[in-house]
Amino acid sequence: MTYRVTLIPGDGTGPELITATRRVLESTGVSFDWDIREAGADVMEKYSTPLPDAVLDSIRANKVALKGPITTPIGTGFRSVNVAIRKILDLYANLRPGQSELGLSGCYDEVDVVVVRENTEGLYAGIEHDVIPNEAAESIRIITRRGSERIVRFAFEYARANGRHLVTAVHKANILKATDGLFLRVAREVAEQYPDIEFNDRIVDNMCMQLVQRPQEYDVLVLPNLFGDIVSDLVSGLVGGLGVAPGANFGDELAVFEPVHGSAPKYAGKNMANPTATILSGALMLRHLGETEAAKQVQDAIAAVISEGRYVTYDLKPTRDDPSAVGTQEMADAIIAELQ
Ligand code: NAD
Repeated sequence: MTYRVTLIPGDGTGPELITATRRVLESTGVSFDWDIREAGADVMEKYSTPLPDAVLDSIRANKVALKGPITTPIGTGFRSVNVAIRKILDLYANLRPGQSELGLSGCYDEVDVVVVRENTEGLYAGIEHDVIPNEAAESIRIITRRGSERIVRFAFEYARANGRHLVTAVHKANILKATDGLFLRVAREVAEQYPDIEFNDRIVDNMCMQLVQRPQEYDVLVLPNLFGDIVSDLVSGLVGGLGVAPGANFGDELAVFEPVHGSAPKYAGKNMANPTATILSGALMLRHLGETEAAKQVQDAIAAVISEGRYVTYDLKPTRDDPSAVGTQEMADAIIAELQ
């Protein structure tokens, strides 16, 4: 069977990471018909928008996409293409697993935390304006019963389907009484419908401290949008950094797989960025497609290459300027050799 998948190379380091990932996925023997679509800062001039409709139409038609990171101008300029894809296609659940199974030295052992981040509301609703230009600005944080209920339910269903025992709702309901108060109330209501899964909650600042001190005590975390974004980067830091952190965005019918990290523009075109996070996102996609054996092979091959420590990018070497670090494509070559 051949899978038709939308492939969005993105910009910055995205295209080289997607090339590496595509080569690894194809070497598993699974057959793909890639529907390649351009989006991001580099196509602004050509299409007058960083997110042409054809990209969204392709994802709607194929139902599955693999995406490289896309740059968002900071403070000014166009709004995030990444957020727009999630919101327009209602990909409400952002799954970001953080596992220490790659065994990177200097990192925590036995961490297995899955971050489930709400992807469509919260502060990312993008409702903000100047009150007095250059003096005061205002941003509105939207939390709804519907949005909270479906993300908490997603977390419990994920826990049940993957043999996990604990869901922790993370919030700031002591201060944000209306918004996070609602999120927490709904989380408690949903938790009652899953008596087989343990449930607790943590205030987000305490959660960050606990994750640094005792990450092994946590299992599945469910968070509103901004907290989920921040805490998932923290979790990736526990297990090896952004270079190894995969992600996936799910709606009821569509799924878009992409690394947690951004476009790392300073490394664009230099063949330096670590392809692991994007390749592992590809492995999550293989699982989603039902290709469980191929997904496992890819994960095992990555673990073997990383534990050998020879053909890895700069960020996985003991020092950042280690001359023995290899490039993006050479690390992918080593993973492919391991697969074969
Ligand atoms: P970033 O994730 O691009 O980089 C953060 C740090 O991690 C940098 O030091 C970078 O060099 C390093 N890093 C990231 N990916 C790496 C990799 N594969 N290998 C080795 N090191 C890696 O975050 P940023 O610098 O805050 O953002 C850069 C741009 O990316 C911004 O425009 C931002 O909006 C965008 N962004 C996009 C996404 C997405 O596409 N989903 C996510 C986050 C940020």
